[in-house]
Amino acid sequence: MQTSKTKRRLIVLTVIAASLILAVGLGLLAPTFAYIGASQEFKRSINESGIFNNDLDTLVPIAALHNVIRDHMLGENQKTPMLLFIGYDGIRADLMPNAFKRGNASAVYRVASGVAQEGSGSLMLTRVGGANRGDEHPSTGPGWTSAFTGVWNDVHRVNSNTAPKCHTVSTIMYILHNANVSTSLSFTWPNFKTRLWNDEFISAPSMFNHGVTDEGTFNYMLTAINNGTRAIFGILDDTDGAGHAWGFHPGSRRYVDAFEYAEAQANKLIDAVLARDNFVNEDWLVIIATDHGGFGLLHDSERIMITTVFFAMNKMFSLCG
Ligand SMILES: [Zn+2]
Repeated sequence: MQTSKTKRRLIVLTVIAASLILAVGLGLLAPTFAYIGASQEFKRSINESGIFNNDLDTLVPIAALHNVIRDHMLGENQKTPMLLFIGYDGIRADLMPNAFKRGNASAVYRVASGVAQEGSGSLMLTRVGGANRGDEHPSTGPGWTSAFTGVWNDVHRVNSNTAPKCHTVSTIMYILHNANVSTSLSFTWPNFKTRLWNDEFISAPSMFNHGVTDEGTFNYMLTAINNGTRAIFGILDDTDGAGHAWGFHPGSRRYVDAFEYAEAQANKLIDAVLARDNFVNEDWLVIIATDHGGFGLLHDSERIMITTVFFAMNKMFSLCG
């Protein structure tokens, strides 16, 4: 009698223990399952959109932007080469399909459709994160530094959001400034001048416009367009802030709202370019790009929706010029 009672207790305890282990195991695996589902959804959205000029197997390194800008601004041209570069910090590539459905309300759509040009533009899937997967942290400091210097962090040494770059490596802004091209860089996030590119700020402080808010950054850019500055760079930051607060996801309403607000600001800047008195004598390269995507509230790993991003330009992109 006593023995069978003990056996029953043992069986019950075993069942409870096994259930607990299973529950904890499933709990631990839940994020993995969630990520697998989210990454499949991301890939499907990209693949089915039909709006990108390349695919997930032929991603363009973000560092390629440096050469695109340099070749346009310093190459042969019968007109005056001009540049409008708009950065949307932390915008995922899978926000583009819905942006395209908004047509001309989307600045990305207008740029990829070749605004301010005779021909068509391009929308490219790009990658951040270093020459080899995992080499470079997918965050703001390394991302924009790679885009503007044309090399990865193994060369520029910006491994975080606070690390200064090597003095021997220059951003395209600084190269243009030193080539006597009037250049302005406007931004909301102060680390561009206080940390990452502080060496260039000390050497050329007039090039740096700290807007403090995105509205301030936008106003600096608009002024630069209207006063004839030839190379205008600006990085809007509220998009990244919304992702961290409300989630980096196309279904995250506040994140999408921040994206659409940045799009509206970009459209005003593009309209200001088109309205320039001297527009017919100018050759404008317009680029909209980002520095990383996000997953959940963060961009802290090699996940596909963090390291696979995009840029749009109003000319055809070719990796080899
Ligand atoms: Zn960022």
